[in-house]
Amino acid sequence: MNQLDKFNQSVMKYDLPQGKIYVGGIWKKGGGNSIQSYFPADRTINGELTGANDADIDQAIEYGQKAVKNPAWANLLPHERASILYRIAEGIKNNVERIAYIQTRDTGKTLTETRALANSAAGTFRYFAAVLETAQEALTPSRGAYMTFSRYEPIGLVSAITPWNSPIASDAQKVAPALAAGNAVLLKPSSWSPLVCLELARIIDEAGLPKGLFSALPGSGSIVGERLVTDPAIGRISFTGGTNVGHEIAIKAASRFVPVSLELGGKSPTIVFEDADINMAIAGVLYGIFSSSGQSCIAGSRLLVQKSIYPQFVKKLVEATKALKIGHPFDPQTQVAPLIHDTHRMAVEEWVERARQEGGKILTGGMRPKGEIYEAGCYFSPTIIEGLPNHSSVCREEIFGPVLVVMPFSDETEAVTMANDNAYGLACGVWSKDVIRALRVGQAITTGTVWVNTYKQFSISTPFGGVKESGCGREKGIEGLRSYMNQKSYYIDTSQKPLGWVRFP
Ligand code: NAD
Repeated sequence: MNQLDKFNQSVMKYDLPQGKIYVGGIWKKGGGNSIQSYFPADRTINGELTGANDADIDQAIEYGQKAVKNPAWANLLPHERASILYRIAEGIKNNVERIAYIQTRDTGKTLTETRALANSAAGTFRYFAAVLETAQEALTPSRGAYMTFSRYEPIGLVSAITPWNSPIASDAQKVAPALAAGNAVLLKPSSWSPLVCLELARIIDEAGLPKGLFSALPGSGSIVGERLVTDPAIGRISFTGGTNVGHEIAIKAASRFVPVSLELGGKSPTIVFEDADINMAIAGVLYGIFSSSGQSCIAGSRLLVQKSIYPQFVKKLVEATKALKIGHPFDPQTQVAPLIHDTHRMAVEEWVERARQEGGKILTGGMRPKGEIYEAGCYFSPTIIEGLPNHSSVCREEIFGPVLVVMPFSDETEAVTMANDNAYGLACGVWSKDVIRALRVGQAITTGTVWVNTYKQFSISTPFGGVKESGCGREKGIEGLRSYMNQKSYYIDTSQKPLGWVRFP
């Protein structure tokens, strides 16, 4: 038995969703283009399905519009709606192993990571159920003989478009608050990872969500994505993906004044000051860039190290990187798994080649790892590059792979200037024992999230999102629910007299 067979036999296998998509609560064969995902560890085909076409989207919209107005949903009290979300959370929790297996097959991420993502998705549904049940509305001070208050009401039909890197988590982050807010949701996953949202659909269906309120519509960006952005029935767009597509969507949403949230790319800086705890910083920097094989929007892909500790820090960092276990996603010891796709690996390789041509020095990695296991899949070694200026394209652009650029800085002012001298603004990491300085630096950096002496930690109750080219809007947190609602203000007369402006004859 070869090593691949050993890994394949080491885990429980679950059926992968096949053939059908979920349109307005009905399982059917999509009328669109065929989609094939493969297991990035050995390129075996996960399954075939045909994505949604215009007729399927018409149906999803029609059923969604009806479902959202149906008293069986529209008249539910918050705690009743929440109870369905709690059931979905339970359904996810009871299927963590199955979801993890499907997502690992779809994306190549380790089972350890996909289990954590599935658990976080369950937590997201639970959290928004709790937010919904406990949300308060307040009377506003009136300035006349009337009572005033502002209510949050459902928008109607919401579209959710997600990328391939963490599907179950990003799906839940949109679907849970959108349903909690009383809407119907049309979810479109990436064609590289079409399967997980179909498993989510199965769980949502079993949890008893009224039919029509949720559709899972795999398909291309140019057909399904385009409709979910431009169709007049869609009242709110929630997008996570690349900055270029984000720009297109922003323009289309603006032309209809449709509220849109855009969770986009990043090139997040990590700043290590000379007084940092070196081992903590090394562990955080490595986890920040090489977990998920760097395929993470918040990857700490730009490392700035204070000059006084630069040589010894980088030496230790390189040694620790070489010790990372690159391996099969089913191997519990694996830290760096394959990339999602050969096409994506080629894109990452092109960036590394460009770094070489621009004079960058590859300190470790920079190539495919060698060996039987690695040749079967889309692996790329964790790579560290130095010697490039902050304004070089490799230091500026998102690579979305296991590639870290490292640069020295002399003092706090220079570190902040270098960190801010980038189009993106998603996250940053600051490593220093002087927490007051770390907070000052965090405040000076234009970004959405600041991690101090840690990195890539998340809480569903803490808002997340970017600024600049990393997008706009926030997900998670209490306000995450409100962002899927329309705020409407009411004035109710308390005088019981006609307004004085009219003089009755
Ligand atoms: P992508 O932009 O290519 O695709 C994202 C989704 O948009 C996919 O479902 C795709 O099919 C769809 N799409 C493509 N063209 C479209 C169009 N014209 N109209 C509507 N939809 C369209 O991104 P990707 O390669 O799937 O994902 C990687 C990117 O996602 C990276 O840039 C990463 O930083 C970003 N990302 C951001 C966050 C965040 O929270 N900020 C999280 C994860 C990933």
